[in-house]
Amino acid sequence: MKKKWAEWKKGAALTLRGYRTLWEAGMGRDVLLTGLSSAVAAVAPLVTLYFSGQIINELAGARSPQRLLWLAALTVGIGLAMHLAKNLLRRGAEARGGLFYVHMYMLYSRKLLDMDYEDVEDARVQAKLDKVKQLQNWNGQGLMRLYWVAGELAEGIAGTISSFALTLGLFLAPAKGGSGLAAVLASPWGTVLILGLLALSVAVTQRCAARDSKLWIDGADYMTLINRLFVYFHFTLPDDHKQGKEIRLYREAPLVKGAIDEYVQTWEASMKQRAGKFARLWGIRSVFPCLISGAVYLVVAAKAWCGAIGLGGVVQYAGAVSLFAASFQTLIDVITRLVSNNQFLEITFDFLDQENKKYQGALPTEKRLDNEYLIEFHDVSFRYPGSDTWAIRHLNLTLKIGERLAVVGRNGSGKTTMIKLLCRLYDPTEGVITLNGIDIKKYNYKEYLALFSVVFQDFHLFSFPLGQAVAASVKYDQAAVEKALDQAGLGERLKRMPQRLETYLNKDFDESGVEFSGGEAQKAAIARALYRDAPFLVLDEPTAALDPLAEYEVYQNFGKVAGAKTAVCISHRLSSCRFCDRIAVFEKGRLVQLGSHDSLVAETGAYQRLWNAQAKYYDEEGIVLAESPGM
Ligand code: ADP
Repeated sequence: MKKKWAEWKKGAALTLRGYRTLWEAGMGRDVLLTGLSSAVAAVAPLVTLYFSGQIINELAGARSPQRLLWLAALTVGIGLAMHLAKNLLRRGAEARGGLFYVHMYMLYSRKLLDMDYEDVEDARVQAKLDKVKQLQNWNGQGLMRLYWVAGELAEGIAGTISSFALTLGLFLAPAKGGSGLAAVLASPWGTVLILGLLALSVAVTQRCAARDSKLWIDGADYMTLINRLFVYFHFTLPDDHKQGKEIRLYREAPLVKGAIDEYVQTWEASMKQRAGKFARLWGIRSVFPCLISGAVYLVVAAKAWCGAIGLGGVVQYAGAVSLFAASFQTLIDVITRLVSNNQFLEITFDFLDQENKKYQGALPTEKRLDNEYLIEFHDVSFRYPGSDTWAIRHLNLTLKIGERLAVVGRNGSGKTTMIKLLCRLYDPTEGVITLNGIDIKKYNYKEYLALFSVVFQDFHLFSFPLGQAVAASVKYDQAAVEKALDQAGLGERLKRMPQRLETYLNKDFDESGVEFSGGEAQKAAIARALYRDAPFLVLDEPTAALDPLAEYEVYQNFGKVAGAKTAVCISHRLSSCRFCDRIAVFEKGRLVQLGSHDSLVAETGAYQRLWNAQAKYYDEEGIVLAESPGM
């Protein structure tokens, strides 16, 4: 009993937290409007019932025209007011339309935007969010359920309380005579019969709801798969124009259609099986309101027969008790659904409560006018969360102030991981990284991040106006953006753009938006890094989208624009790195060589091998003679 009570308390706290979350995320008005309109709708028929009873009693009794007129006016007036209120509230809720859903998805997006990057990239965190969205989209579980049941909950509470108040008189009115079955039903035994049926109804409803939610939970993983297939076949595949070429060329259409048919059929089969079980559960539940109504009519009739209530009372009580039974059933139903929803709320909060570990440091980074920031890796090793292989092993490296460091190595040798550690997108598994001698974890995270301008290999520019995309802000310094674009080599292109900095990138938001080539987009990403004017400039293998000449141009230019900044540049083409002061060679997560181009070429080792393999593709100046296969 104690355990059950503790469970109920925990469940109620979770549900309340859920409603508080909706309120704080801007969805409170939607919940309130829906709830209030349903509460008014639940009480309205009881008002009519009450006054109808009064009118009938008056007609059967004193028959005062004045009182009858008053009662009729009140019935119509209050009924009208409630009808109006209900419709106004309902329309108010409807007028907010999809706003609720926007706020709901914003809640998750905001969490993702603020979350530590390592968690965003973590497949387990992604799986959590997938599950939250899956349960929500499929059957409106989790926070969505709180909104969906708000109307029924308010209806259940308002209906139960008001109909109970209107019914009380029936049970309190003593029988004045009668015999046999009528006398038994009019006695407290009639009340016991109704209460017994109500208790049975509660128990059965609870059972059915528990089984109902188990059916949903058992099917959740299967539905996650179906949902993934659905998104792949109906959104990803048709939206990806590139795949269209191959589908036609290789005549893959029947293959795709066959796969779609197969998944639709398995889905249908599983739904059929489920539908039978759901129908049985709902069937069992719906019997009780009828049974209770039947018992109520018997008791009301017996009470009237035995002279306990008058004609008006029959109308009022028969209606009120039936409404009570229905409202009570709704209330129990909603509460059971809320209870079973708690496990989904737990999953939701598990995602929303994902701790932000990076924000624990408080030390401000010094704002140094001389940009004297010294970064050192002290025996750093790193494993990605959930992985048992080392991506970086025993790394010792100093980034000297103002130097240009090139990082080279085969794919998967740990170059990008090193940059991620440098920018604190991940923290080392072992060892420490220091900035001017202090562990970087101790610095204020946002201030530390502000020290870096990084152009990632898979950079992303938003389809916003060019000025905003480069400044990463709605408000920006126009002259500074133009200067950054010019430095990045996009000055001429900017002059040719119809609305200059106001020109939209891509066509997502504007039909006349410009589609940049790979090289131009790369330059825009570099401009974004330059506009930020951070003391560290990092370029992560910017060559994927570039032809060899454009790549050469980027590196030449990078040397120039980096100016006095400390610059780190990852490349798989060694000729591009020759302008750097030092070159760090990575192999299987380890730093295997470090030195200038000239010293490394002269040294027997990985760099020399790679250089010789690539040399035939470049001339003396490092200009491309032919496309090299890379590494
Ligand atoms: P590089 O930049 O030299 O190509 P990376 O730093 O990207 O190499 O990768 C180093 C190693 O870490 C590789 O074995 C790669 O598979 C692994 N790795 C990279 N990113 C992740 C990730 N998000 N989760 C798990 N392993 C990863």
